[in-house]
Amino acid sequence: MTLQTAPFSRPSHGSRADSLARVAIVGRGFTGIMNAIALLKDFDLPFHLVMYDPSPRINGGESVSRSGKTVLNSRVRDLSIDPTVRMDFKHWLETDEEWRSRQENSGEGVDHAFVSGEIFSGYVYQRFSEALRQRTDVIVQIRAEAVIAVDADPRGGLQVLSGDGERTHFDAVFLATGYGVSERGEELAASGRVEDAIVIGGGVQAVDRALKLLAADEASHVTLISASGFLPQSHTRAGVGPVASDKPLPGTLRGAFRFLREAANTAELEGTGWQGIMNGFRLRAGDLWKGLSSEERRRFKRHVKPIYDSHRNRLPPSHYKRLHEAIATGAITMKKGKVERIATNGVLLSTSAGLQVLPAERTIDCRIRPIDVDAPLFRSVFTSGLARRDELELGVFVDSCGRAVVEPGVFHGLFAMGPLGLGSLPDIDQVPEIVRQVYAAASTLRAWLHQPAPSFEPVGAE
Ligand SMILES: Cc1cc2nc3c(=O)[nH]c(=O)nc-3n(C[C@H](O)[C@H](O)[C@H](O)COP(=O)(O)OP(=O)(O)OC[C@H]3O[C@@H](n4cnc5c(N)ncnc54)[C@H](O)[C@@H]3O)c2cc1C
Repeated sequence: MTLQTAPFSRPSHGSRADSLARVAIVGRGFTGIMNAIALLKDFDLPFHLVMYDPSPRINGGESVSRSGKTVLNSRVRDLSIDPTVRMDFKHWLETDEEWRSRQENSGEGVDHAFVSGEIFSGYVYQRFSEALRQRTDVIVQIRAEAVIAVDADPRGGLQVLSGDGERTHFDAVFLATGYGVSERGEELAASGRVEDAIVIGGGVQAVDRALKLLAADEASHVTLISASGFLPQSHTRAGVGPVASDKPLPGTLRGAFRFLREAANTAELEGTGWQGIMNGFRLRAGDLWKGLSSEERRRFKRHVKPIYDSHRNRLPPSHYKRLHEAIATGAITMKKGKVERIATNGVLLSTSAGLQVLPAERTIDCRIRPIDVDAPLFRSVFTSGLARRDELELGVFVDSCGRAVVEPGVFHGLFAMGPLGLGSLPDIDQVPEIVRQVYAAASTLRAWLHQPAPSFEPVGAE
């Protein structure tokens, strides 16, 4: 492996580098790094890989490491990034003696433990470095540049325009830009102790942040704003892993959710917990999604997604207990509404009762940024016909391997990975799904490069 960090000058015609397959990954968050790992491990031809991201850091993922010590909402047992070793993350953690002894003292089994984004990021980065070391036939170039556009190259293949104005040719390009370029400064005003703080966001990260403010005595009271009014449910020891029902899943949205509710009620009565049923349902959600009509998918986005998210992205049980104790004692107040404006002294909230001003000395915004499909990069791929938007307008239309399918059977070598495909594939923002997708994409790429004619069987999503 050759690792280059300086700008790469195009190799002269006929050199070894020129004969290599040229692949770009745009974004070095979890999806981008994972994509690189899958190519290094499974794409067995020599290749030249360029990884773009304006952030000079290379770690295990922007979203998860950005939140540093924020707890991840998946258990250790569900975070392996090696599809052939189910407990790879657990084994990696067990090599850390300090972590192991802390865990032994807490009495919580390693499998069921929850770790911070920082720890997970360290694991991903180590696996990336190991995969790099194994490949002496691969050139990897790290570019600290944003990608502004991807177009069709008039000579064939694709052309990437980076922030420094350079155009570079590639045979295939993987977009892995997740939630966009990170803008910090999500925290406004005072950083000492305050009476009233506001945390915006109804997800795991927001709850974690609110509880930390109280635990560190940085705020006496926290208002937690959830746009949908839902907060994450709890993991449970009883409902671990997927529980598959032997009954077939109905093909309509209404039927599927009735089925889910009944199966979950039965599991609750039997004491096995609805969470296992939900995990099993998620494994079948892709098939259900494919069979839904456009109208049903839109209904899902409008009415069902917030409640689905609050049941799939769950809190560690200890967090759930602390959250509900804090709500019961009045230390946390939950508000449902849409944030219209954030100022240094509070938030303007639109609720069903009208506009409301919530004063606060400190406001922390923990919302996940929506994908900016109007950014120049996305505009370029849509206008050049390399990709199209999904029908829910959440991102790029993809098949299950992440190929940007322009119309049935037409693919130009552009992939949109991980959360970019959320409008086509439910749950593709989760670690296990991203791992599956990047390995599927690596085998697809091999077939694509050997058979560059744009004919293939579309998988999923159509
Ligand atoms: C706090 C948190 C906790 C989570 N916990 C879990 C969990 O426990 N279990 C689970 O399964 N999933 C979890 N997830 C979800 C999952 O980890 C994320 O979906 C995943 O990390 C997304 O990674 P990404 O690389 O696609 O996006 P990001 O991490 O957002 O990375 C995108 C990268 O692309 C770069 N970029 C953007 N635009 C450009 C451009 N034009 N040119 C070049 N580079 C660009 C950005 O700078 C960034 O580095 C969590 C997510 C968060 C935020």
